[in-house]
Amino acid sequence: MDKSMVWCGLDFDAEGKDSDFLRIPHSVDTSAYGWIGVPVVRIKNGEGPTALLCAGNHGDEYEGQVALNRLARAIDAADVTGRVIILPPLNAPAVRAGRRVSPLDEGNLNRAFPGRAAGTPTEMLAHYISTELFARADLVIDLHSGGRSLNYVHCGLGHYGKAPETDAAIRKLLEVFSAPWSILTQGGGGGGATTLYAAAAERGIPAITCELGGGATLDPEGTRHAEEGTRRVLAAYGIWQGADVPPRAETRFARTLPRDLSIYARHAGLFEPHAAPGDAVSKGQSAGLLYHIDQVLTPPTELRFAAEGIVSCRRALTLAGLGDCLFNLAETI
Ligand SMILES: [Zn+2]
Repeated sequence: MDKSMVWCGLDFDAEGKDSDFLRIPHSVDTSAYGWIGVPVVRIKNGEGPTALLCAGNHGDEYEGQVALNRLARAIDAADVTGRVIILPPLNAPAVRAGRRVSPLDEGNLNRAFPGRAAGTPTEMLAHYISTELFARADLVIDLHSGGRSLNYVHCGLGHYGKAPETDAAIRKLLEVFSAPWSILTQGGGGGGATTLYAAAAERGIPAITCELGGGATLDPEGTRHAEEGTRRVLAAYGIWQGADVPPRAETRFARTLPRDLSIYARHAGLFEPHAAPGDAVSKGQSAGLLYHIDQVLTPPTELRFAAEGIVSCRRALTLAGLGDCLFNLAETI
């Protein structure tokens, strides 16, 4: 791939803890030679594996951002063997705007991989992660939540169906992270290979993501899962010896059901849900009602689940439009 146009004021190979910015060139009316800053922390001590920890890939998902903000300060370089690279507000322009996507280019970073060297700011950031950060990473954790539009069951998420070694390493990461649920996916419902963790797994790097709440708020339980899961992974890989490591919790494995079993709004309206994330539902069970806004005398559309399963996520917003995802399902394995 082409050489990245993004540069960093930080030497990733230097010892100790330091922080600077990824600098994405951005030439605009008021700043001809300026850059967009993406805060990054490097903590290194001698030889060993490198963990790449990200949150804020979507700007309105907060549990992971707060967990990594805490960890960046909690990790003492003297207790590290190897290296930790932390980016709590990864798509920093989106984080600063409180939005899922970047206000600079409407770029959804988690649909932009592998990125482009001379693309939009979001594409340039994806390209830098693909070329410079993945090249240094032995494992990747990308912490997500449902954002403004979704509420998610607390889960770790991993791709399956790659090389058997990568599959096994991803499964091990999910077991160690041990969110209440561990969901395996082939990426058919979301971004496929254009997501950060799928792009990392594509390169053979053990990578997981997670979904820890949603609704563009901060769920303390989700923040706890993000921090404790990350502590367990760093300890299990021998990277952070000083970690206060909470015991591994029980995690239930599941896999996503195909998207034709998801429920989408077939018209605009007001969504009244009858099931919550984590609920076990049966085929034909009422999922909710979708009320017509303008045709008051027309009865609301009845929504029913098309299969038995676990509700993995539910739309957080009441106002829905044609094509909006209202429910996704998973099945236990
Ligand atoms: Zn996300």
